[in-house]
Parts: sequence; structure tokens; C-alpha cells
Amino acid sequence: MQTIDNYNFAGKKAIVRVDFNVPLDENGKVTDDTRIRGALPTLKKILADGGALIIMSHMGKPKGKVNPKFSLGQIKDVVAEKLGVAVQFAPDCAKAAEQAAALKPGEVLLLENLRFYPEEEGKPVGIDKEDPAYAEAKEAMKASQKEFSKTLASYADAYVNDAFGTAHRKHASTAVIADYFDADNKMLGYLMEKEVNAVENVLNNIKRPFTAIMGGSKVSTKIGIIENLMDKVDNLILCGGMTYTFAKAMGGEVGLSICETDKLDLALNIMEKAKAKGVNLVLGTDCVAADSFSNDANTQIVPVGAIPEGWEGLDAGPDTRVLFTNAIKDAKTILWNGPAGVFEFDNFTAGSRAIADAIVEATENGAFSLVGGGDSVACVNKFGLADKVSYVSTGGGALLEAIEGKVLPGIKAIKG
Ligand code: AMP
Repeated sequence: MQTIDNYNFAGKKAIVRVDFNVPLDENGKVTDDTRIRGALPTLKKILADGGALIIMSHMGKPKGKVNPKFSLGQIKDVVAEKLGVAVQFAPDCAKAAEQAAALKPGEVLLLENLRFYPEEEGKPVGIDKEDPAYAEAKEAMKASQKEFSKTLASYADAYVNDAFGTAHRKHASTAVIADYFDADNKMLGYLMEKEVNAVENVLNNIKRPFTAIMGGSKVSTKIGIIENLMDKVDNLILCGGMTYTFAKAMGGEVGLSICETDKLDLALNIMEKAKAKGVNLVLGTDCVAADSFSNDANTQIVPVGAIPEGWEGLDAGPDTRVLFTNAIKDAKTILWNGPAGVFEFDNFTAGSRAIADAIVEATENGAFSLVGGGDSVACVNKFGLADKVSYVSTGGGALLEAIEGKVLPGIKAIKG
């Protein structure tokens, strides 16, 4: 497989798929530039080699229609500032051939939002899935998606995918376009390489003991990951809202706590599987129960299966925090997805904080720690600990699918 480090972009034009789906305020100003900064090493390497750069991305969900609210023109100046070079703008991503052809080494062209074209996502528009003509419309869309991808590919000599956040989507710019470049001229960008390596470390290149911490609100949304991890981990901590589905499944009283009553069998099944596989399943024993879903609620510490009527468990209790810490601090591989409580409320962060602190300690002692998939990232950011873990993933859904063991189309398109 070609790598970005081995490739010399001198005199070449590179088209790079980045994830510049950044949040904007009501005046179109970028409020968080993390994603732009994330792509800079790749973009700068191409320019430093003496290549010309064509940058493409989606922004928001314009659903295949031009919508100025989602125009990437709004971020052109921020990209220019971060890159330190002027950025030209192509107001129609599918009609940028002339601008691309005129690019000289060191010059940068930013294409308008790919999702202004339905071909990017490849979903037929204006036709219901139930409609008998849908299958035909889908075929037609597939053909025009290929044409669209071919047009984008025609702008450049090389293709780089650095958009991990959309790697789980088989879109024109994330996967189909790769068909129009030979193996030597397509590669992952630096950010993608880092993400792929991080996932590799927790799925295949495991140093033991391996502790995975799965939290968040529901067991149903995490089941694919839990099942895939069950064959790999030594310790599996299940925390957050799913605690109460397990407590209820074991015959406990959970009051008003979040609980999936239709998943009680699933919870018991997970417990049995863990036992059969010799996995140390760590569930909370006590919790911080609250008399309302608010930061200022009255609280009491109670067993997870003995929550008084009208109360709900919103965070891990003190005994539980010790259990979690003990299962994490000596681990050599750690994966954390999902908070241990309603961390958005400052009074219910203790469980997540204990996890984060134990991960930091283990990391200082040589563990590889990956934090990712939505809210646990917000958690480590809130605690100011993001730079004290080995890797914080930028990809929510993509990371979750990767650790479920699914092959990501964006990566497959390049790796084969
Ligand atoms: P998820 O998107 O499934 O990872 O869930 C993250 C959300 O789970 C966060 O917004 C947390 O506030 C929420 N959460 C964690 N613990 C609890 C709990 N005990 N009760 C209700 N929500 C929770």
C-alpha cells in the first residue's frame, strides 16, 4: 500500500478528502477549528513537497441541494490562515476542471460542499424507498455517482483520504473515487493513519491486560461493540445508563433510572458470555441517585439495585469508582467509549472522572489508551486530560464501526 510519507508530491496535483464539517455560528464564523487543524499535517506535507492541493469536504446535511448555509466558502479564509497560503475557491465542485488544471505547485483550491450533489452520498432524491421505481432510481444514481467520482478524480494525479469521520460511508469522495487511481497514487493521510493504527492497537496489537470501558446511555446501541470486544478483553467495564438495565435484569429496583426493559435478556446473555469466556465483567454496585434529572437535584448513595421510587441513578457511586479504578490502573491496553454518568452536569462527573484519572495513570505507566466515539471525548476535554491519554479519536460513528470489527469502506477503497 502506498503511504503519504513515501510519496513525493513534487509537480503533482493531489485531491484530498478532509473532514471540514466544522461548527459555524449564525454569522458563518468557525466556532471550533479542531477538524481543520487535524488535517494540516497532510495538507502541509503535500505543499512542502511542491505539490498543488485540491481540498474537498462535506459540510452539514444539505441533502443534495445547493444551500448557502452550508457553503464551504465560509471557511476559506480560516483554511488559508491555518495553512499559511492563499486559498482559491471552486463554487461548483463538479465544474472545477479549469481551476484545477491551472493550479501551480504550492497553490490550493478548495472545492464547494460535495453534498450539494446527491451523487456524493449516492442516495436517490425525491423518491420513497417503498416506491416500486426506487430500485431503478438507485441504479441510475449509482451510475451518476461513478461519473461524479470520475470528474473529481480527473482534477488530480493522486488521491489522499484524510477524513476518518466519514470513513464508514461509501460515498463518492470517500470510496468510489479511489477506483480511478492506481494503487501507487492513492493513500491514507496522516490523520487516517493515526486513527487506523489506534484501532489496530486495541483490536489486534493488544498488550495485556486489556480493559475496555463502555458507558453512555443504552446497552442496545453498544451491543455490537460489546460482542466484538468480548473475545479480546480481560476486563470489561459496563457503566453509565446501561448499569440499570443490568441491575433490573438481576432483579433489582432501579426507580426512574434509564433502563431498557426489553433488553433484560440481552443483559443476562452478556453476563453469561463474559463468564464463559473468562472475561472479568465489572458492573457498578452503588450509584449516586438523584431525585430529579438536574444538576441541583438532591442525591443519596444507594446500591444500583435498590434505588428508591422516584429516584434515578445518574452517576457511579464511591465503591463502584474504586472497582473501576482497580480494573483500569494496571491495564496495558485501554479503550474508553461512553461516560459513566451524566457528566454534562458538574455534580455527576465523579464516575467519569475516576475512569479518566485511572486511564491517565495507566498511560503514564506505559499503557496504550484510546478514547473515542462521542461523549467520552467531550468528557476528557471537560477534564482537560485529552493530551494525557495515548489517542483521542476524531471519528464518532467511524470509530464505533471500526471497533465493532466492521471494514470501513473509506479504508478498504485504499487498502483493498
Ligand atoms: P451515548 O451517546 O450512548 O454514549 O450516551 C452518552 C450519554 O449518556 C451522555 O449524554 C450521558 O449524560 C448519558 N448518561 C450516562 N449515564 C447516564 C445515566 N446514569 N442516566 C442517564 N443518562 C446517562
